[in-house]
Formats: sequence, structure tokens, C-alpha cells
Amino acid sequence: MTTRDDESRRIARAVLPEGLRRETLAVRTALAPSQHGENSEALFLSSAFVQPDAATMARRFAESEDFTYARTSNPTVRSFEARLAAMEGAEAAIATSTGMSAILLLGMGLLKAGDHVICSRSVFGSTINLFAKEFAKFGVRTTFVSQTDLGAWRAALDPATRLLFAETPTNPLTEVCDIRALAEIAHDAGAMLVVDNTFCSPALQRPIEHGADIVMHAATKYLDGQGRVMGGALAGPAKVIKDVMGPVMRTAGMVLAPFNAWVLLKGMETLDIRMRAQSANTLQVAQWLEQQADVERVYYPGLASHPQHALAMRQQSGLGGALLSFDVRGASPEAARANAFRVLDSTRVLSVATNLGDTKSIITHPATTSHGRLTEDQRRASGIGQGLVRLAVGLEHPLDVIDDLQRGLSTLTS
Ligand SMILES: *Cc1c(COP(=O)(O)O)cnc(C)c1O
Repeated sequence: MTTRDDESRRIARAVLPEGLRRETLAVRTALAPSQHGENSEALFLSSAFVQPDAATMARRFAESEDFTYARTSNPTVRSFEARLAAMEGAEAAIATSTGMSAILLLGMGLLKAGDHVICSRSVFGSTINLFAKEFAKFGVRTTFVSQTDLGAWRAALDPATRLLFAETPTNPLTEVCDIRALAEIAHDAGAMLVVDNTFCSPALQRPIEHGADIVMHAATKYLDGQGRVMGGALAGPAKVIKDVMGPVMRTAGMVLAPFNAWVLLKGMETLDIRMRAQSANTLQVAQWLEQQADVERVYYPGLASHPQHALAMRQQSGLGGALLSFDVRGASPEAARANAFRVLDSTRVLSVATNLGDTKSIITHPATTSHGRLTEDQRRASGIGQGLVRLAVGLEHPLDVIDDLQRGLSTLTS
């Protein structure tokens, strides 16, 4: 006969054995289930948590212990944080409402007036704006450098440099940076390396294993994986995530909604198989695009023609990821833009939208959308031409994606 004690030991799987592999951690890491023993993580839609007595409540508030008020902590959000930290090989993670608010939290936690940041000039458009416009208002200077030119990163260092910020591969040109080399440059200067790992996700790339200090995520993308909710996160050492970011979060309040955390927890369980399948589909589409007369260039780290192909294969578990871009031909920027629009408008399966990381393939025109708010100079420096088309490949059959691209491309030659 089982006693109640035996039963609660059996269902409380919060303490997992050592040495589990990432695929297992992605499915199993969470807070202990409730007394009911639910097998799927519970969704705690509660802003406040009832305290056993006034003294306990006082202590929990004073020491910011779990769980008092949902701006400080919520059990479903904590499960998401624990799962992401386990998958990234980080000591801790903190969840935010969006990817951008993760970078906002990063800046609020680690930067002050007079500090200096070095950022790849090829990062997500809003990331450039956040550093160049918003943080600049508070006296933080940012120097933007070529993603792949290590000499430029080193040359940009100055005594006030606190952070190096990179995204690899970049959006939309899929430039790959050497995480280990950048970490050495940062550490020699007493600075930290932050890597936006949105595109590879921990299924393909764990930046901390390569020496990065902090990993940032737009969970909106592959962690969710089905384009449903927005979310973000930072992962790294407990002394940064818990001790520095935690208090800023409690004050500033860019928390992840518990419902979104629950959706993300479900998405992360299939992350590994999705990333593998979507990478394979993307490689097939990229190889086809390379053969097309009206495509001038294909950007995809999985192709042997990619300038950092070897580095990408080493750093990304041998896979290219699920995002590619290509330049459609055009005699002038206007003609190239018209041809790119033709490719988008001829699709009947792909979604014309500005997201990625979905099981539904999404096609977009970066120069007029994600990078539309940049000045023409910033855009040219980032290499985003008017003929550039970005494709985030999902889980449709790759031949149906190819047929859909063919509809527009075939009309350019006629
Ligand atoms: C989408 C994205 C972001 C921003 O995330 P949001 O959730 O949209 O705020 C940051 N970095 C990269 C690489 C992204 O793709």
C-alpha cells in the first residue's frame, strides 16, 4: 500500500537525476507539480499568492522570495525560466514580455551614463534602434561594427566598454560570428559578451558553451515555434540574472505573462525536432534557390558557398537553421524592389508577414519592414538591398515551398 508520503515523492519530479541530455531537459525541467500530480505544467493565472501568516509575508517581501506578487515571480513563469536555463546550460534565466524588453532589461541592469557598448551593425533592426536611439538618451554610447571583422570589434574597445552584443546568424543576411573569439576580446577588456540566440535556439547553439556571458532570446520565435505569443529572456550566471536583473525587473515590470510562459513551455518540448526538420527543409530550399537564374545570391549558413560555412557548422551543431535570404535580380534598386514584391505577391501558400520561427513559412521584404525605420545609410551599411527577400522556412513539405517561390520567380523571366 502506498502512503501519501510515497505518493508525493513519486509525483514531485522537480529534482531530476544529473546528466540528463538537452532533449530530456526540454521536456522535463519545471517546478514540481502541485498536489494533484498534473503531468502537463499547470498554468497559474494568479497575480497574488496567499501567505500563511504576516511574518512569512514580511520575510518573503523583504527577501524577494517566491511567490508573493506576479511582478516578482509566478510559478508558470519560473518553470519556463528553469527550462530555458537548463537548455542553454546557464545557471539562471529571467523571462521578459518580449525579446526587445529582454534587451531593455539588459541595458537597465548593466549600463549607466558614460558606458560604452559595441554592437554588431547587422543585428535585428529594433535592437539597433534601442541602442542607437533609446539608450543614447541616457548617455550610453554604442559603436556599431562589422559582424565578422574581429579587428573592428577590438579597435572599437575603449575604457568605458561594458558590453559586446552580437546576434548569430544575423537577420536577414545570416552572417555568423565566432562566439569564442568575441568572448576573448570582451574578457580581455573586462567586458561581457551578450549573444542574441533567437535564430539558432539552444537546440542548435549554446553560446555559453562557447564563452558568452549572457544569452538573450526573442522567445516569440522558435521557442514558441507556432507564432502564438510574444516573450523574451536573458540567461547567464545567477549573480547577474538573479542579483542584478531580478531587482530591476521587480521595479520596471516587463514581466512575461503566465499564459505566454505556459505556451512557451509547450513549444520548447518540440524545439529540438522542429529545429532539425526546419533546418533540413531550409537547406533543400536554399540549394534550389542557388540554381535559379533570377536569384543573384542566397544567404544561408548551411550552404558551402556561405562565407562562414565551416564556422557555422562547428558552432551550430552541423545545421544551418531555418532562415535564409536571397537577392532577386534588378537593373536598379527600384526594379529589384518590384521583382521582390512580385515574388512575395505570387505566393499562395507562404505567409506574407514579418515574423519567423513559425511552423508556417513566412516571406518578407526586410528593406521596407523590419529594416524600414533605418536610414538608407544604416541599411546600406547592413547590406540590405531592395531586392532582398527573407524566408523563414516552416514545416510544410519543402517542395511546396519551392513551388510557391517558383510562381513569382518564373514570371520575372517571361
Ligand atoms: C524578433 C527578434 C527580436 C525581438 O523580439 P520581440 O519578441 O519581437 O520583441 C530580437 N532579436 C531577434 C534576432 C529577433 O528575431
